[in-house]
Amino acid sequence: HLPTAELQALDAAHHMHPFTTNKDLADKGARIITRAKGVYLHDSEGNEILDGMAGLWCVNIGYGREEMAEVAARQMRELPFYNTFFMTTHVPAIALAQKIAELAPGDLNQVFFAGSGSEANDTNIRMVRTYWAMKGKPTKSIIISRKNAYHGSSVGSGSLGGMTPMHEQGGLPIPDIHHINQPNWWAEGGGMDPDAFGLARAQELEQAILEHGEDRIAAFIAEPIQGAGGVIIPPATYWPEIQRICDKYEILLIADEVICGFGRTGNWFGSQTLGIKPHIMTIAKGLSSGYQPIGGSVVCDEVAEVIGSGEFNHGYTYSGHPVASAVALENLRILQEEHVLDHVRDVAGPALHEMWHGLSDHPLVGETTIVGMMGSLALTPHKESRAKFAMEAGTAGFMCRERCFANNLVMRHVYDRMVISPPLIINPDEIKEFGRRARKALDECHAQLKE
Ligand code: PLP
Repeated sequence: HLPTAELQALDAAHHMHPFTTNKDLADKGARIITRAKGVYLHDSEGNEILDGMAGLWCVNIGYGREEMAEVAARQMRELPFYNTFFMTTHVPAIALAQKIAELAPGDLNQVFFAGSGSEANDTNIRMVRTYWAMKGKPTKSIIISRKNAYHGSSVGSGSLGGMTPMHEQGGLPIPDIHHINQPNWWAEGGGMDPDAFGLARAQELEQAILEHGEDRIAAFIAEPIQGAGGVIIPPATYWPEIQRICDKYEILLIADEVICGFGRTGNWFGSQTLGIKPHIMTIAKGLSSGYQPIGGSVVCDEVAEVIGSGEFNHGYTYSGHPVASAVALENLRILQEEHVLDHVRDVAGPALHEMWHGLSDHPLVGETTIVGMMGSLALTPHKESRAKFAMEAGTAGFMCRERCFANNLVMRHVYDRMVISPPLIINPDEIKEFGRRARKALDECHAQLKE
């Protein structure tokens, strides 16, 4: 390798990064990750960094699994590419679709493949609108989503998302996407009982349906637990009420399982953990543990039958890519045969919960919250009043993230919430180390905030 500073200068000169400014790249230089094994990343400066985020919520089986590389190499030699358009297919796509159908709940038996979660959510927009048009109800085109949601970065999926900074760039949202409030009780509950708050937030869906007209609404989309929005775990009353409303008004329910899927919440899908019965699930990330880019829409029998009764004019060159499919299938084999979900439920989950809630005595920490292996904590200058910082929202979170980096720990911040989602295979000793580094980062952040 070239020396780090030279690589950083080349990176700043030629590489446009997502969600990053040129100034930061030029002034600070991006951290250069060179290799990884298990839960540890290694950078070009020789640091060993504990990855509390599993990359971007995706490396569920951990890094460096030889079997995954072998499967990819074998598939590349045998059939590196063929498409799934125009009545062609191949064994990896068939095998993966069958496996996903086996794992998915209810009658979610068909998979439309994509290259990413964003692409899959774009598929969903077109699929639900096409479904209703084919059922003779073309006015049902509105999709309701939630503020502060993240469903991807393409024009369609970015519109489903409810993040204002994303909407401000590039003319989003596209027409007929509406957003209701999220069930963030800690920050927005205003003293209400959590169950009453959960019901009230769910009933915003009903209000939106009545406001726009039942005959105009195609679908509601949400993550079982909102991930990139800050790991917002809804009150127990929320999802049953959403389900009731979707059933009552015949609204298709899309569960975005891009983060929650494949073991993150202790079941194969977050919908199972939260008791949701979706018509469509969006999948990506943990499907291949990030070893290959792949996503998809898992579709219930009825919707798949209607869509398939005509030609769905939609598809991606890499829909069901053979190498990505083979690698994803190997990932599912590892998750299943190595009983990773049992590890989450019985070993890593309980240890992580103990570590995470143990941080709640820290003066900077307002609440800690966690389901399975996805958690968050709220930073606050004053625990009792849940006060916000006087500085711009996100400044304290950014500071904390930087202190984590300085202590060789990856934790991400969403404004002033810190979020975690480590590889599912993390062991109790590594979780203790995670806790030590997190506490030290919080201490340093606390001291810095007092300066
Ligand atoms: N949906 C959710 C819930 C996500 O968290 C993400 C990415 O973080 C996406 C969709 C988009 O997936 P991708 O980045 O693979 O396009």
